[in-house]
Amino acid sequence: MTTLFSLDYSCTICGHTTKFYSIGSTTIFGYMDLDTRPAELKRSTLVYDVQMCPKCHYANYEISDLIVGVDHRLLTSDRLKSIISDDTINDDIKKFIIAATLYELTENYHDAAYLYLNTAWLYDDITDLENSIKYRKLSIEMIKKYLTTNNDDHHMCCLLVDLLRRTNDYSQAITAANDLVNVVKDELLKNILNYQIELCIDKDNQCHSLGEIF
Ligand SMILES: [Zn+2]
Repeated sequence: MTTLFSLDYSCTICGHTTKFYSIGSTTIFGYMDLDTRPAELKRSTLVYDVQMCPKCHYANYEISDLIVGVDHRLLTSDRLKSIISDDTINDDIKKFIIAATLYELTENYHDAAYLYLNTAWLYDDITDLENSIKYRKLSIEMIKKYLTTNNDDHHMCCLLVDLLRRTNDYSQAITAANDLVNVVKDELLKNILNYQIELCIDKDNQCHSLGEIF
């Protein structure tokens, strides 16, 4: 089961205080997806992982924590304003896009990649294919930037392979998987990469779980 509790958080940008739910504990039943999305019940709690200030729309894992480099001026820049004012995006998704964009603009590409991927998952849940692909591609872009200085992060390389496959870029996914399978020592990662290559050969862009590897 999942236990939730609410706490007050003060926005580090504008000072406004709001109550947010936090996760006390949760349980996971089953294997994660190949893109690291956890199984239920953890899956349903991910939406609480990011908070958004209702007053200034600053968003982060906790709005009381400052993303280094973010200030009021950045939050009111044209790029952020166009996201904040877009009434077609619901607030549960919008907070992930705002936080991802803030991490991207402050060059924390690791967190930006994760938050764009979370956005894609939320669009998967409402079967909005166009936005699922759009945000997976943004996540790919962030991972590539992150890997330019962290190319020994094999878990992130492995995630990249899945995102390339899910966005129908089979040839690049196969190349990345083949490059990686020759250097990884971890047997599980090797098995995942070989499975990804099989899926790419079959032109399979669907969601698959780690349970299929065992
Ligand atoms: Zn605020």
